[in-house]
Amino acid sequence: MKEFLESHKKNMLHLLELLVNIDSGTYHKQGVDRIGEILTSEYQQMGFEVKVYQEEEFGNHLVIKHANCNRPSIIIAAHMDTVFPKGTVDERPFHVEGNKAFGPGVIDMKASLVSVLYAMKTLMNSGNEGFQNVEIVINSDEEVGSLTSRSLIEKHARNKKYALVMEPARKNGSIVSARRGKGNYVLEVTGRAAHSGIEPEKGRSAIEELAHKVIQLHELSDPDQGINVNVGVIEGGSSVNTVSDHASAQIDIRFSEMEQAEPLTERLEQICASTDVSGTKVSIHGEINRPPMEKNEKTRKLLRIIREVGNNVDVTIDDTATGGGSDASFTAAIGVATIDGLGPIGGNAHSTKEYLEIDSLVPRTLLLAALIQRLTEGKR
Ligand SMILES: [Zn+2]
Repeated sequence: MKEFLESHKKNMLHLLELLVNIDSGTYHKQGVDRIGEILTSEYQQMGFEVKVYQEEEFGNHLVIKHANCNRPSIIIAAHMDTVFPKGTVDERPFHVEGNKAFGPGVIDMKASLVSVLYAMKTLMNSGNEGFQNVEIVINSDEEVGSLTSRSLIEKHARNKKYALVMEPARKNGSIVSARRGKGNYVLEVTGRAAHSGIEPEKGRSAIEELAHKVIQLHELSDPDQGINVNVGVIEGGSSVNTVSDHASAQIDIRFSEMEQAEPLTERLEQICASTDVSGTKVSIHGEINRPPMEKNEKTRKLLRIIREVGNNVDVTIDDTATGGGSDASFTAAIGVATIDGLGPIGGNAHSTKEYLEIDSLVPRTLLLAALIQRLTEGKR
């Protein structure tokens, strides 16, 4: 398989260039669908069946499996959308500098799309049957929280034993064995406006109230427990000499274990159930939108297998936890052994400096193919 991939490295990079040079920001349906069409055609040529799930606002989602696929035990999850709006490719198209490739979405996660396709190709070419043991779900709205694809991912993960999620490997090559859960809330404070020079005593400052709340919310953070509460945006008031009648805050919460979610959200509500500045009103709304991916016994077992496979193909595997969310949270939450970060190595995702380490493309694709083969042998 290694030889096959080495001899196809140029083709892999050509496909990557083609994919990167199509803007496919989540809200640019046309572009995302173009990526979907290219992948569909590639997979169909290899004897795979592609089911297209039509979407109105976002790009269509794809579910792909080989025509001879029978009760697959592996789901592979990848996404086609990027965080970059239409026009980004014109500003900074795909380009290579030394061992690094740059361009919008190059590592998050167009290189992974190439990697999955070539893992299938090399399995087929080598006569391994692993390619018949996977169902590949490629969604179009991961970067905004998989609003329309979550249920599709969950549905296709439910009867699987393993979930391999194709977010990029970390800069140091680590794969991802745990992710924190996440929620977003908006806090609104209503006060009463008054002229701050003439009759300040008639006012009730929403900003003053919000300030109390921000302190109390941040105090909920408990780094040792993996809990973080961050007020990331505040807004309020109308002029410098007016007691503010309105203020609001946007809150991001993170937690390591699902058990922490309820007590944490209860504390949020408690804090917002009373006021420190009398006469103001406080309300909070929002929800938990990604469960945590916990490093449990199933994860550890899969990780051991990946390490062994890594040894066989000369890829050293370290794993790490990260605070960011991904679709791995959804498959892990329904009890499927899940590992993330199985894409090629790169960094600076979501920024103009995003890059792929070109030399990682073949080894990580080989690792993926060998892993699929190994998990398929274990199925018998
Ligand atoms: Zn991603």
